[in-house]
Amino acid sequence: MNARTTFDGRKDGPGAAARRLPLVDANALVLAGVALVAGAFGAAAARRMGTERMRGLTEAARRAEGELRSRDRSSAEGRRVQDVILGAMQDGVLLLDREGRTVFANASLARLLGAPGGRDPVLPVDLERAARRAGYTGAETSAEVEAGRRWLRGSAIPVGDDGSVLLVVRDVTEALRLDSIRRDFVANASHELKTPAASIRAAAETIRSAIEEDPAAVPRFAESIERESVRLTRIVSDLLDLSRLESGSDLHELVRLDVLALDECRRFQETASSSRVELEVKAQEVPAVRGSARDLALLVRNLVDNAIRYTKAGGRVEVSVSSDDGHVRIGVTDTGIGIPTRDLPRVFERFYRVDRARSRETGGTGLGLAIVKHVVENHDGEVSVQSELGQGTTVTARLPVA
Ligand code: ADP
Repeated sequence: MNARTTFDGRKDGPGAAARRLPLVDANALVLAGVALVAGAFGAAAARRMGTERMRGLTEAARRAEGELRSRDRSSAEGRRVQDVILGAMQDGVLLLDREGRTVFANASLARLLGAPGGRDPVLPVDLERAARRAGYTGAETSAEVEAGRRWLRGSAIPVGDDGSVLLVVRDVTEALRLDSIRRDFVANASHELKTPAASIRAAAETIRSAIEEDPAAVPRFAESIERESVRLTRIVSDLLDLSRLESGSDLHELVRLDVLALDECRRFQETASSSRVELEVKAQEVPAVRGSARDLALLVRNLVDNAIRYTKAGGRVEVSVSSDDGHVRIGVTDTGIGIPTRDLPRVFERFYRVDRARSRETGGTGLGLAIVKHVVENHDGEVSVQSELGQGTTVTARLPVA
């Protein structure tokens, strides 16, 4: 006997009937039948049979009834567990009979299909089609559909060979988003690496012919090879840092950001003066933060490097370190070219540049602020940027005191 009754005569089609329907267990029907038979037998047949035989039979029926009752109890328990499991699942689950009518649907299905609160969800056409195909081909089928602002992937799995189909619906919006970010990143990184690699190759080829035809031009092309290989190394080094930071920072050190900022800025003095930019540090004595000295140095370096690169000769860069209500704040302010308001929300994205040519010219990789953002997030902090075009920029990182 089939363990589940199918749906009563509601509207046809899986989409029309996707809601929880009562399931009638086969055991319950058998149990009712045995109880009736035993009762009738006890009254009427006792008259025709010997009392001994009758007693034995009634006893056997009672035992069967007891066993079935306990089996029913355990199957009801099993069903309750199943309901809890299916109800707690993030994936939508829908069981359809061979006619495409709903036998069972869990709560997540209604949520995913945008019909919470007991309303009947409508199954998108492509998912309905996938379920039907799985039913008549007997092979698992899947489909992806856009439902509102989400992407859903439905896998239709034939159950047994009576044409029933189990449809499992999953929200794949986030997975697709991450996939697209990953693909964009690989495309961007390849492009960034390809450009200097192509320049190096072209310069090397030119040198080969210039040695005989135009020896005076050789140093110029050699310089170009040097410049492009520095750029290549920088991109690879930033990519490696970024990939390391994506798996977190090692937060086992106590780091004094005032000391670290003074240290890092000392290293930049020469670069600053060769760009004719004044670099100054205003650091209060601050409490330590828990984190990675290496990564925090990377943060300061990237901010100071940007500030110098995007500030014209005669400009100023100031690095300030202070602490307030349980946080250490490090800010890097410049009097540089500034960032247009519309670009501000995107500057922390990998490879995002306001002015590609300027970034490249000054040796940028487009990864500096993405690195900064990762370091700050790994340290449970926040980072923000304020800027006015033509006036200057301030990037501030705020990290919790250890
Ligand atoms: P890049 O290596 O190109 O500097 P970043 O990730 O460090 O890449 O910064 C992203 C973009 O944000 C830069 O290309 C630049 O357009 C802008 N930017 C970052 N810092 C500054 C700054 N201090 N002043 C002006 N623009 C900046």
